[in-house]
Amino acid sequence: MNEAATALAIEDWKRFTPLANKLPILFLDGTRLQHLSIECGGCSAHLEGECLRGEIREVSGDRYSIAGLAACQSCQAFTQFCLSSTGSAGSVHLEWQTAAGVLMSAGSVSWWRRLLSKFQ
Ligand SMILES: [Zn+2]
Repeated sequence: MNEAATALAIEDWKRFTPLANKLPILFLDGTRLQHLSIECGGCSAHLEGECLRGEIREVSGDRYSIAGLAACQSCQAFTQFCLSSTGSAGSVHLEWQTAAGVLMSAGSVSWWRRLLSKFQ
């Protein structure tokens, strides 16, 4: 990720709120999406809780889009994600496009420190 893309990702990160605050998603038949874990594009770590920020939007009756950023502390990088979620008969279905790519950065200590301050 270049400087401009990193700056953009940091802006998005500040704008977004933790996804954990918006879960669970309750579907019409009572199915719940309670927990979300995103795999880091850099090291494959499972990122969850405060590491995930984004937006959940109701697309249609029982379909939601979940989009945002996952911050990995060990890679010092963001992974961008965009999922579509539906629930029925007690299970939740997630769809995503890998073509959307992975947003990552080797990063510099300074921006990561700024990011870390957001966790506290
Ligand atoms: Zn990672």
